[in-house]
Amino acid sequence: MESNTQSDWVARSLRSVWHPCTQMQHHETVPLIPVSRGQGVWLYDHQGRRYLDAISSWWVNLFGHANPRINAALKQQLDTLEHAMLAGFTHEPVIELSEKLSALTGHVLGHSFYASDGASAVEIALKMSFHSWRNNGHSAKQEFVCLKGSYHGETIGALAVTDVALFKDAYGPLLRASQTVMSPDARQAGEGESAADVARRAAADVERLFMEKSERIAAIIIEPLVQCATGMAMHDPLYLQLVRELCDRYSVHLILDEIAVGCGRTGTFFACEQAGIWPDFLCLSKGISGGYLPLSLVMTRDAIYESFYSNDVTRGFLHSHSYTGNPLACRAALATLQIFEDDDVLRTNRVKAQRLTAALQPLAQHQQVRNFRQRGMIWAFDAIDATPDFSRRFFATAVEHELLMRPIGASVYMMPPYVLSDAEIDTLANNTLTVFNKVMAG
Ligand SMILES: *Cc1c(COP(=O)(O)O)cnc(C)c1O
Repeated sequence: MESNTQSDWVARSLRSVWHPCTQMQHHETVPLIPVSRGQGVWLYDHQGRRYLDAISSWWVNLFGHANPRINAALKQQLDTLEHAMLAGFTHEPVIELSEKLSALTGHVLGHSFYASDGASAVEIALKMSFHSWRNNGHSAKQEFVCLKGSYHGETIGALAVTDVALFKDAYGPLLRASQTVMSPDARQAGEGESAADVARRAAADVERLFMEKSERIAAIIIEPLVQCATGMAMHDPLYLQLVRELCDRYSVHLILDEIAVGCGRTGTFFACEQAGIWPDFLCLSKGISGGYLPLSLVMTRDAIYESFYSNDVTRGFLHSHSYTGNPLACRAALATLQIFEDDDVLRTNRVKAQRLTAALQPLAQHQQVRNFRQRGMIWAFDAIDATPDFSRRFFATAVEHELLMRPIGASVYMMPPYVLSDAEIDTLANNTLTVFNKVMAG
């Protein structure tokens, strides 16, 4: 069977696969790694070399590769119902998942609307917000507010509320304008300023905008606690409390994009729990299916749901995807939630997080490192005086040391699966230090 060698797979992939977020020519020097299988935190290539998946394969994998419990649940679902359309039909996995998620918010966010990827969930939240206001007689509310350094996906609507210069510059002419407010990124703290002070400053910027134009603004969209894709920028939970108050005061919807930070990643199941608030819309994807299948969803308050409830089709939410509520994906999500319950994951993660933070102290105190930061199961630090090709060189050096890591610019981060053992925690910390020293030495 296995007649292909590692290099055959690489050559075939480069001939026919267009890889995401990649300047394909860079693969003349950056390795492309054909993965043959996964087990726990490890991915294996065709030569039997292994890589610790320190970024959970773009933040989706929570409980390791080939997880026996998720596998078993999926095999059973596969023999029962692989898919049925969700318009006019419903099924057990989507019902149970929606009930469980609602319960996790204390039934504040009572309904879930399903799609397949994160960007689609963002598009849904934006459309729902606008349409809900219109159904309530506020059709002037058509604008959206996002944060500096925000990332909400790369389809045209999601990109319009994303503030990544590279993408905005390339596709700007295609996008609808949105309002951008200051990021609450705690790294901006000046002399004697705390993270909470930065949060207050950033909230004041939101208030300035709301005062001026709230009657035209439908919603503000925020990645709560950690703006991940633009370099793991962390902020004080106070920011979310202040923005929640402003949204209530000025009648603006709050959309929380928990696609990356949800599912326990920041230490609580939903990141917004740490601020003691709930949004009007909450987007989930990535980890919700345990990293198994494409699944995303938008949870909403009952008041939003009711604003669409009518005999009139045009007042209904006009949106669908072919695979909406796919039973296999929902089953993977149910198995994932079951693991949270059975293993008391949020508690055991706290112990693991302490161990990794301790093991990373040589990096936290490294002369060429600044802004070492951690929240829940996310760690990041910034390389001082990193060269423009730092990220690519780090990735290439990391794979030589059994690590899968992709820094964002000069920000090195870790977002490992939650099943990391103590030995794997030590390997991750030690090898990251070795890789960092090699890359910084040139
Ligand atoms: C990944 C991500 C998205 C987009 O999800 P896709 O599945 O890649 O479309 C949106 N928002 C945040 C915060 C993300 O991290």
